[in-house]
Amino acid sequence: MVMVLRTGTLALFELDSEAEDLPGGVRRWPVHWDDLLVYGTESGSDHPCGVYRLGLSGAGRQAVQHAVPVDTKISLCGEPVYPLPVCGWSIPFSPTTDRACPDCIHLAVIS
Ligand SMILES: [Zn+2]
Repeated sequence: MVMVLRTGTLALFELDSEAEDLPGGVRRWPVHWDDLLVYGTESGSDHPCGVYRLGLSGAGRQAVQHAVPVDTKISLCGEPVYPLPVCGWSIPFSPTTDRACPDCIHLAVIS
């Protein structure tokens, strides 16, 4: 974490990776503070939603977070989304954020 931006709504964090491993060669990424909430340290395949990436529909603070299977641009609920970000690196879908799509949560958990 480097600093908090925009009166606390964004956090700027910096990746530790070697330059060639960075997504798009970009070291610093702004992330919504809400998205940094961590519920425990478990990760990986035993999490029911761990296989889905985060995709957004809508814009700005109203954007809805959808679960998107790898390598598609259609969410589980059938919404066209734009993945975040690109360059072979993406944020996993988290069913616990405030703006997560209820249909995607349901579909991600039962599948
Ligand atoms: Zn959805």
